[in-house]
This record gives sequence, structure tokens and C-alpha cells, in this order.
Amino acid sequence: MSVLKVHDLHASVAGHEILRGVSFELRTGEVHAVMGPNGSGKSTLTHTLLGRDDYTVTAGSVTIDGEELLGRPTWQRAQAGLFAAMQYPVEVPGVRVGDLVGASLRSRAADGVLPDDVDARVAAEARRLGVREEFLRRGVNDEFSGGEKKRLETLQLAVLQPKFAVLDEIDSGLDVDALRDVARRVEAMTTETGLGVLAITHYARLLTELQPDVVHIMMAGRIVASGGPELAGRLEAVGYEGIADELGIETMVVEAPVEPEDPFSKQTTSLADILKDRDDL
Ligand code: ADP
Ligand code: MG
Repeated sequence: MSVLKVHDLHASVAGHEILRGVSFELRTGEVHAVMGPNGSGKSTLTHTLLGRDDYTVTAGSVTIDGEELLGRPTWQRAQAGLFAAMQYPVEVPGVRVGDLVGASLRSRAADGVLPDDVDARVAAEARRLGVREEFLRRGVNDEFSGGEKKRLETLQLAVLQPKFAVLDEIDSGLDVDALRDVARRVEAMTTETGLGVLAITHYARLLTELQPDVVHIMMAGRIVASGGPELAGRLEAVGYEGIADELGIETMVVEAPVEPEDPFSKQTTSLADILKDRDDL
């Protein structure tokens, strides 16, 4: 058994603190859900765990079995067993899906040697996930629909078999059938290969297929509540505002970095609202 430990993680973007002390421990075979309103810092958590270089860690630690990942390049974090499916997968026209998976496998293997059954593994996963063979020959995410991108992320996850996967809104843009296929495949991995999953989502619907052991609620860059699956049910019943009220939390989101003063960028209801703040007009 392995454990991914995130302790008191703080991170900033453009000098603005977004993550304000995130802690949790995820063991292999477990599913943890992270739920939170838009702008609460969920994607920032994903990027920071993977080590995107415009996200600056200012405090905390991220370890797998005691080995520190912070300060390491993304490929080394992948070698240590971490994988992430991004909320907005990038399009890489000209690089075939099959080649991408092969390259990922090769860079992750300590000796750089590609297992000789990569093509067979990719083809088997494609069948299991309902990804047509034709997609494997196309450029990565090139002209893919939202649902196709998420199936492809899941395919990479299934072939790579990491210890831990962060799934950032893997359910967004999926229709009901695709949601079920993706969630079932991930759920199966938790028992077949002991995958540990951090499933970031807005909606409880994903969690009926992918059953979480722990549900965390994130607001304003922190995990403000953790509990069992019943917490997702409670959230469905009272909404994020209801939970925030119960916890006495006033701000659910992290304020975006300060924009230059521009009255027309403010949310206003009428031109009169704009003009009344402006004596000079
Ligand atoms: P969520 O995924 O929960 O919707 P995000 O982590 O995407 O939230 O965003 C949290 C806050 O951080 C938002 O105010 C967002 O504008 C800001 N933020 C995140 N990433 C960046 C970035 N690369 N550049 C500027 N601001 C960012
Ligand atoms: Mg997000």
C-alpha cells in the first residue's frame, strides 16, 4: 500500500495566494472526492500537485510514501506514481494518441524501455472505454468533442496504471453514457490495480458510479469539511451556500488577482450603476 500525503499546501499564482493550507491523505485503493464551487481552487490544486511552473508553492509538502515531490519536475512526479486528468486537456495536433501513450510509458519506466505490448494494451483499453480505433490514429484531442477528450484521458490513465490519479472534473462535458463508462472504468481500477483517486467534481452524480470513501469540501483555497459519502448528499440538499452558512464561512471563492480599475468590467445591472460611481462623467 502507498500513501499520497498533502500537508498544509499553500500556492500562489501571479503573487496571489490561491491554495491556503490544503491537507489530506489518500491511500491506494481509496477514492476521495473534492467538491467545491467554481473559483475555490480545485484546478489550482491539480496544477500544483503536478508541478506546473506558473504555480508557486509557498509552504507545505506533497509526498508519496515519504518521498517529497515538491520542487521536482512533472515527469519525476509521474515516475513516482502520480497522474492527472486535466479539466481542459490540451490539443496536440500532429501527435498521435498511440504515440503519446507510448512516450508517457517510456518516460515513466526507470530504464526508459517501452513494454512490448503497448499497442495491444491501448487497443484493449480503447475497446473497454468505447473509443473507436480511428481515434488512436488522430492527433491528441485534435477536434475531439468534450466527451471524447475525457474518454481519452481515462484511456491514458488505464494504460499508464499510476498509483494515484487526480481527475479534475472528468465528468464535465460528458453525457450520461460516457459518464457511466468513465466512472466504471476508474472504479474498476481501484480494485484491479489499487489505484488511489482524487476525484474533483461539482456534482454528486459522478459519485453514484465512482463511490467515494471520503468527501472533502473545498472553499476559498482550503478543505473546510471532510466526511463520508453522506456529505455529498448533504451538499446536494443544501448547496454550497448552505454548507458555507453551516460552517460560518463568508467567502467561498478565492478572489481573482486584482484587475486594473475598469468600471465596465464590474458586474453591473445597468448603465446608471456604472455612471453613479463616476463623478467625472
Ligand atoms: P476551480 O477549479 O475551483 O474553479 P481554480 O483553481 O481554477 O478554481 O481558480 C481559483 C482562483 O485562482 C480563481 O480566482 C482563478 O482566477 C485563479 N487562477 C487559477 N489559475 C490561474 C492562473 N493560471 N492565472 C491567474 N489566475 C488563476
Ligand atoms: Mg477547475
